[in-house]
Amino acid sequence: MRLENKAVLITGGGSGIGRAAALVMARERARLAIADIDADGGQETVRLVREQGGAAVFVATDVSQAQAAAGLVERVVAEYGRLDCAFNNAGIEGELARTADITEADFDRIIAVNLKGVWLCLKYEIQQMLRQGGGAIVNTASAAGLVGTHSMSVYGASKHGVVGLTKSAAVEYAGKGIRINAVCPSVINTPMADRTFAKFPKFERGIKNMNPSHRLGEAAEVAEAVAWLCSDAASFVTGAALPIDGGFTAQ
Ligand code: NAP
Repeated sequence: MRLENKAVLITGGGSGIGRAAALVMARERARLAIADIDADGGQETVRLVREQGGAAVFVATDVSQAQAAAGLVERVVAEYGRLDCAFNNAGIEGELARTADITEADFDRIIAVNLKGVWLCLKYEIQQMLRQGGGAIVNTASAAGLVGTHSMSVYGASKHGVVGLTKSAAVEYAGKGIRINAVCPSVINTPMADRTFAKFPKFERGIKNMNPSHRLGEAAEVAEAVAWLCSDAASFVTGAALPIDGGFTAQ
């Protein structure tokens, strides 16, 4: 019950890692706001949380829009009275292409969702946490936010950006009782990975071979780390970019 009664917001909560985090945090008795651009996925997560006895509401949100990010935080406060934890996890993969072949439109879309979206959420979450005297935030970066990866340079740039935002914001607000960390997963078994493997079938075996653990990660393995980072058990942890990658970035 590490998150008993905590009001927790999860973006990208309608699928993959976000949904897994919702289920783990519901188990820990958090009260959840599931934000996603995909209403069907978001509502399905709410149903799954309620089915296991948890509390959750869905908030339709496009994190790349300032008004939506501000409205999301307002809605959580209206629903639960405060915002204790936020998991800024919504993200997109973009097209796999080398740097010289990435289109400007893809660049703009990836940066808008993965980097600006995290910053917008941070901005309004931090404002609320300052008003109430503290909180904990976890951002989803990626192993591609720690090392270079092939055919994902803009995605990697967006995730390096998330790591940078996380560290700087952590330094700024550590004295105000707000902890801000990032998780950096390697390839995780979610619909995002499925989409990539469907386009490039050889990619899955290559990824497994490159990982010292010789497998993909599971969304629940990321979720457990997120729940811990959100909880008071991680009370002296801030500004960390935690690899959850089976040893991939240790090589
Ligand atoms: P996923 O299964 O595709 O889930 C992402 C969710 O975010 C989807 O429901 C998606 O909706 C939603 N979303 C997309 N754009 C949004 C926006 N503008 N506003 C609000 N919600 C939006 O992906 P995942 O694998 O769980 O990924 C979650 C996070 O982990 C992402 O930030 C990703 O970059 C990161 N990550 C993933 C992996 C991996 O291998 N899976 C590895 C490292 C990091 P739609 O489906 O409608 O787009």
